[in-house]
Amino acid sequence: MEKGRNDFIPKPVSRRRFLKASAVTAGATALGLGAGRPVLRALTAASQDRQIENQGEKIFQSSCFNNCFSHCRQNVHVRDGKVVKTSLASFPDNRYDRICLRGLAHPQRIYSPDRIKYPMKRAGERGSNQWERISWDEAIRTIAKKFGAVQEKYGKTALGFHVGTGDFGTLNGTNPGSIGLLQKALGVTNISLAVDAGFLPGINRVCGFWPGAWNINEHADVIHSKNIYVWGHKMEVAAIHHWHFVAEAMENGAKLTVFDPNYTGLAAKAHRHVSMYPGTDIALLMSMIQVIIDEKIYDKAFLLAHTCAPFLVREDNGLYLRMSDFGVAPTQGPVNPMTGKASMIDLNVVWDPATESAVAVNKVFAPALEGTFTVKGLKVRTAFDLLKDRVAAYTPEKAVKITDVNPEVIRSTARDFARIKPSTSIIGFGSQAYDNGPIWGHAIATLHAITGQIGKPGSFIGNTWFAYLGVNYSLAAPESIPMLYLPELIKNGTVKGKPRPPVKALWVSHANPLTAWVDSNYWINTFWPTLDFVVVADEQYTDTVRYADMVLPTAHWFEREDILTLGGTHPFIQHGEKAIEPCYESKPDVDIHRLIATGMGVGESFAATNEELLKLCFETPHFAKMGFTVENVRKQKALRFQPPGYVAWQDLKFTTSSGRMEFYCEHPLDQFQAPVPVDRLDSQRLPMWVPPREASRDNPLFKKYPFVLMSERPRFRVHTQWYNIEWLRELDPEPTLLINPKDAAKRGIKDGDYVEAFNDRGHAVAKAVLSEGIRPGVLSYPKGWHKQQYKAGCFSELDHRAFDSVGVNQSFFDALADIRKWKGSV
Ligand code: SF4
Repeated sequence: MEKGRNDFIPKPVSRRRFLKASAVTAGATALGLGAGRPVLRALTAASQDRQIENQGEKIFQSSCFNNCFSHCRQNVHVRDGKVVKTSLASFPDNRYDRICLRGLAHPQRIYSPDRIKYPMKRAGERGSNQWERISWDEAIRTIAKKFGAVQEKYGKTALGFHVGTGDFGTLNGTNPGSIGLLQKALGVTNISLAVDAGFLPGINRVCGFWPGAWNINEHADVIHSKNIYVWGHKMEVAAIHHWHFVAEAMENGAKLTVFDPNYTGLAAKAHRHVSMYPGTDIALLMSMIQVIIDEKIYDKAFLLAHTCAPFLVREDNGLYLRMSDFGVAPTQGPVNPMTGKASMIDLNVVWDPATESAVAVNKVFAPALEGTFTVKGLKVRTAFDLLKDRVAAYTPEKAVKITDVNPEVIRSTARDFARIKPSTSIIGFGSQAYDNGPIWGHAIATLHAITGQIGKPGSFIGNTWFAYLGVNYSLAAPESIPMLYLPELIKNGTVKGKPRPPVKALWVSHANPLTAWVDSNYWINTFWPTLDFVVVADEQYTDTVRYADMVLPTAHWFEREDILTLGGTHPFIQHGEKAIEPCYESKPDVDIHRLIATGMGVGESFAATNEELLKLCFETPHFAKMGFTVENVRKQKALRFQPPGYVAWQDLKFTTSSGRMEFYCEHPLDQFQAPVPVDRLDSQRLPMWVPPREASRDNPLFKKYPFVLMSERPRFRVHTQWYNIEWLRELDPEPTLLINPKDAAKRGIKDGDYVEAFNDRGHAVAKAVLSEGIRPGVLSYPKGWHKQQYKAGCFSELDHRAFDSVGVNQSFFDALADIRKWKGSV
């Protein structure tokens, strides 16, 4: 068996010095902007001094291309062709200058003992991690033969490609880029992630579609807010680069409220912590909306002028009453910049109280906000009336039974949000990690719509996540199915009820599905055995690599040139310079894709040079309009894609059909922008809370498994990346499970004991950490450990893979479990 070990691990900074510097950096970040930046600057200055000391050191600039969405600017220090360290680099706007321990630990990743050095083929059972080194020639020949045989026997789409979020390089990464080109050329099935960002389509329902993600104020803008609500988000750990702006807002007098079942580090810094029962966030939001409507503290002027509130809705079909219902033909409107097609204007109809008649929305200044009317024999109601009805069942006295939140707390949070201007919401992934994720987004956007808290400095619906995906989508794979549909394909030979060929061979890159996907045992025990051949292209020996038939070594981000078009927590597109040659026999992804295309007889799709391909991927009409070219990204290194002080929806022209915020969504779309089924329209047109599929106290299974199993984003890993970094493991050595001391005591569990969390799907053994901050009845584990690092099992074994056909969400927080002291070997 071969397993790569390094012959060179540079030690430019001793561990003691690293930990000392890291502690200063972490402390600095925790202290916020005021204290943090000078310390980081001192570290940078010190590194520059050392550069002078070390003649011959070259500094390149790049970033982490991963999915932590901070994308910090970094100096890559190179001596004798080796990366010896990384340090903070400046953006043109230095409020965004940050780095974290992971960014400082890159050399240990590049030269990790777990780095894949050569192409390898399996030399034992899948999962045995036994490998035989082979040449690139043999690897490509074998892949071409095996993939070709599967496509010939079962059809082109029997070859599945799963490309995860571990690299957002425009040419080499997840963006359509060269992997999209390869997929298109081979006619494969793209197996997409069932996203864990279910709230996006919900917000887009209300505000309208926005390319790539959704439209939010520049991250620094939160300092203008006076009232900040953070939902399900440990931003003090997972988004330190956004948190410091919140801290600055607090120094300016803003009030912070944290909504989280657990008492997090962020909650400890907040003015108010609202602990709801897990999975009840939507019910809580609906109760807040109920209070605001009941107490008439909504923003009436905003509702009438900028939302669908006064629009009349037909009782017979749930559609808006429009002028076409009066025989007025729609007219052609301007070209929709989102679709490139001309829009059709069919004006909505409102009720004019002055004339007691139904009129076009543009004919009356003060339409009725509430009421039921009969127009042309049709019964109609205002959209606001329908919302009022929908939330009527969520009075605080009723909502407390669902959420456990004291009615007076619900009232005060609702009143503050309506009255303190500007108020803002920062949303994490926790609240929507259930199969009704889109409704969570729909509900919070509705709260903003009725209070007019949008389109102003300090007021937005935000996340520490900002995508700016203006890349070339024409390169995307032609056919895509979310991974959650694979079980249907395996069992019935159908997807969404329609027959399609099986997936018999699999390519995986920038992903570690066997650890990261819900119900991980299913994929290993049921999906994997159906596959004739599995190839994983990666940089490290992940759990998924271990179950591959062949593994290809990919280059690290600093070993190739690329462009990063996702701003993350800053508004910059960045150039990633190539700092060193690819280590060992690794290759940049684009070169691997070219080899495979050539081997499989579609080399003409890669006839262009890498330079030409980079231009093809990046120089889209979208970026051309902004004057962005590969050349000027190279020259300027970081280009701002938002003007300073950018405020989303500032002109209050939303991209819905009416140009207003439509909390009543006539034609709701699902996670993939397809219309929701007719029988789901009522539950999707307005926000509606439904209990989590599993983690509900009303579920009979709750008697057997009385804990809700949740996870939290860790400081030391990004998903499952950085899992094996020696320096970071000293600070965070092994998987842990956070348990409330009272729950632990009932089971005789002490701090530091190994405990087994289990349910009918699987188990995980981790070290118990007793914490008063964990809500009784809840278990929480830091994400991102690999199966190989647990004493036994893995937490993703415990998650179910059931999903809602509208949300198509992996429900990471929707698992019931129990715990016991681990009696196995440790
Ligand atoms: S891991 Fe994220 S936060 Fe840390 S340095 Fe890299 S981009 Fe920045």
